[in-house]
Amino acid sequence: MTENELYDLIIVGGGPGGLSAGIYAMRAALKTVLVEKGAQGGQMTMSDEVENYPGFEHISGMELSMKFSEHARSYGLEVVSDEVAAIEPGLDFHEVRLADGETLRGYAVILATGGNPKQLGVPGEEKYYGKGVSYCAVCDGFFFRDKTVVVVGGGDTACEEALYLAKLVKQVYLVHRRDELRASKILQKRVLDECKIEMVWNSVLTEILADDSGVNQVSVKNTLTGEERKIEAEGAFIFIGFHPNHELVPAGVKMNADGYVVTDDKCETAIPGLFVIGDLREKYARQIVISAADGSTAALAAAHFVETKKSAESCELPAELG
Ligand code: NAP
Repeated sequence: MTENELYDLIIVGGGPGGLSAGIYAMRAALKTVLVEKGAQGGQMTMSDEVENYPGFEHISGMELSMKFSEHARSYGLEVVSDEVAAIEPGLDFHEVRLADGETLRGYAVILATGGNPKQLGVPGEEKYYGKGVSYCAVCDGFFFRDKTVVVVGGGDTACEEALYLAKLVKQVYLVHRRDELRASKILQKRVLDECKIEMVWNSVLTEILADDSGVNQVSVKNTLTGEERKIEAEGAFIFIGFHPNHELVPAGVKMNADGYVVTDDKCETAIPGLFVIGDLREKYARQIVISAADGSTAALAAAHFVETKKSAESCELPAELG
């Protein structure tokens, strides 16, 4: 990376989408740089078991992340470890400002910043984060071996994480606000068949309580009867959805009411040459394979965009000849 260098493509985010985009971009001979502030693989690194990425019946999220990263680097993808502060679209090229003060310039930008777990916003959640409150069973489940934990949520994530925790802990209470899980049927069946998981239907978690050694109890309220009960538990794992990381999305890019970016079928936004992929993009489902597919689509579309842009530039006559 040198000052004033003009890249064909700048990829922001090194999850499955960003890394797949990197693979396709390098194979399309685009001069590409990928910027990632954390570990490559993004949210994927937190999955204990990935069982639905084609070609791998069982693989850990960490191992799959390493495979994506090694694959991208095998084509010589340049990777910069830094945080992106802003993306400033331009007519000739786009600028990506880094937190360290440097600015990258590129004809095309792919934004692949994913998202973060949502919070319940109940008393004790923030206070006891890291002392019994967690958003990642794979990261923290080990600390709750042979203990009792509460899991909140009814989607795929809550069910997967509850099943993971059931392998480690004495008992899992799965608290869900309705009487039916949102998760896929296969996960629902596994959860309901798991003897270590007890369902707490029609209930919301209202408070997380702790003593000197950390979380020891949660309060749960029945949404139908209003009845409150306490559950003795040393851990509260919260999986109630996802907040898309849209903070870098420039003005003029359309987002839906939930903060996901609306693109066309090439993953391109209303700003030419600015693509959004993966969990940040509005879509039916959020899966590793879908982020990877987005990455390949956007990189191929970016290659076409860059080629068209360069050939238009080379056809422009100098002013004195025009
Ligand atoms: P999700 O599908 O949006 O589910 C969120 C769950 O949390 C829902 O059951 C919801 O209840 C509940 N919830 C939301 N806000 C709540 C609140 N304030 N209090 C209590 N409960 C609340 O989120 P997700 O499970 O994280 O999944 C996100 C996406 O990733 C989905 O598309 C999912 O299919 C996908 N995913 C796939 C896999 C896989 O295929 N291996 C794994 C993980 C995630 P309601 O049901 O009542 O709305």
